[in-house]
Amino acid sequence: MKQPTLYIDGRWVAPQDDKRISCIDPSCGERFASLSAAGEADVGRAVNAARVAFEVDWGRTTGRQRALYLEALADDLEQRVNALAVLEVRDNGKPLPEAQCDVADAIGCFRFYAGLARELDERQDEPLEVGDARFSCHIRHEPVGVAGQIIPWNYPLLMAAWKLAPALAAGATCVLKPSELTSLSALELGMSADRIGLPAGVLNIVPGFGYEAGHALARHPGVDKLAFTGSVPTGSKIMSAAAADIRNISLELGGKSACIVFDDADLDAAVEWIMLGIFYNQGQVCSATSRLLVEERLAPRLLDRLVEAARAIRIGPGLESGVQLGPLVSAAHHQRVSSLIELGKHGAALLTGGQRPAHLPVGYFIEPTIFDEPDTGSLLWREEIFGPVLCVKRFRTEAEALELANHSLYGLAAAVMSADLERATRVANALRAGIVWINCSQPTFVEAPWGGLKQSGIGRELGRWGLDNYLEVKQVTRYHSSEPWGWYTP
Ligand code: NAD
Repeated sequence: MKQPTLYIDGRWVAPQDDKRISCIDPSCGERFASLSAAGEADVGRAVNAARVAFEVDWGRTTGRQRALYLEALADDLEQRVNALAVLEVRDNGKPLPEAQCDVADAIGCFRFYAGLARELDERQDEPLEVGDARFSCHIRHEPVGVAGQIIPWNYPLLMAAWKLAPALAAGATCVLKPSELTSLSALELGMSADRIGLPAGVLNIVPGFGYEAGHALARHPGVDKLAFTGSVPTGSKIMSAAAADIRNISLELGGKSACIVFDDADLDAAVEWIMLGIFYNQGQVCSATSRLLVEERLAPRLLDRLVEAARAIRIGPGLESGVQLGPLVSAAHHQRVSSLIELGKHGAALLTGGQRPAHLPVGYFIEPTIFDEPDTGSLLWREEIFGPVLCVKRFRTEAEALELANHSLYGLAAAVMSADLERATRVANALRAGIVWINCSQPTFVEAPWGGLKQSGIGRELGRWGLDNYLEVKQVTRYHSSEPWGWYTP
């Protein structure tokens, strides 16, 4: 495979120090590629290139011009859907059909923001009534400048698209740092940018380690806006770095989302959505509904069905046909999830899973795992595990279900399942989360806002909220009366 380097100022360049990142196939633990890691000086070069590109031209382009580039990027990705999906599987481990959905969603994201870029031209210079006829006022939506964007490994290409598409649509220029575990598909975006002739410096990609390249990007004074997706501890560091010079930030962090199932819910549908909510992408989903709250009367039937369904999941390498659950992303993450499971065995009943599948002696595999009745104070119940581990508790009343669901440091997502739509809506309104699903779990639409409350983050991505992340609102107010203002006139 071609060994890419860093994409800075429209060129593939070598880093200042030759530190390398190994690309490991999680299904076997073997290295299949390696790439250069950006250091502080390289991040500085990328930020400077993004600044020049912003000042010289990109910041003054029209939405329509930017839409053409976004559409060209989408068209270019569309030519390579399968190759990109396979690359994503090798780097991240997820099953191929899931990777294919990710690529399709990434393409859809670029197309959606092309549409919003065009609309932005129509919204520009909107007049605003200010209640005094001597003044006229209009509103401008101007690009924020240089965006530093740091993303995780769970949806490598899709997370890059969620960051780049709205920023480019808004007229910002970007320095993207992918996760050191999964940088390859982000570099493919650089190759697309090259092919479509995106102006140099508008998009810069600096794979590197968090403590080095990420740290440098978060602290760089030339970055106007920091957009981060990842864990709470790193988010907290990003916030501290931005606090030093009051930089605009948005944070998409972790979750421990609840799924409340009432006993009138459609059982077959509930089983399917609960499974999707915790086993899709090996449970490495920020919005995974990893805490299941089930009405007591329904619990025995629902749990029997869930255990049966979890045991039937086909586990294996993501490129193998029919596989529904791949390996976790890395040896370190496998170790972390395994130790949380071991810890959980001491306080809760293990209904199924909890080990490496017997037929997969290598790779970072873990069986779909279900724990019953962990203590509400336990790590298992409170902490984001980010693996295929479901924790179940029973409730008797709606109030008790809400109390359990909302008792969390996180507030990213939640789901409620019931045939009684009035009740489902009441519960949805009372849930302290940025995303609530009724009678489903996880469907995600580029049009709808994405983000959380409490320690799940600050701000919203996707939809028009995603575009607003990269826009500054300016009022331009004009005095057009011929009368003097007269305040200091004797
Ligand atoms: P992480 O915080 O370890 O890393 C995320 C990114 O930050 C990586 O690119 C990493 O290199 C970088 N980084 C690490 N240390 C840094 C530092 N000191 N300064 C700057 N950058 C640094 O998270 P992860 O393990 O890659 O991803 C998993 C986490 O991401 C989970 O908590 C998950 O919930 C969260 N996530 C949230 C969303 C959302 O939309 N809310 C989406 C996906 C993932």
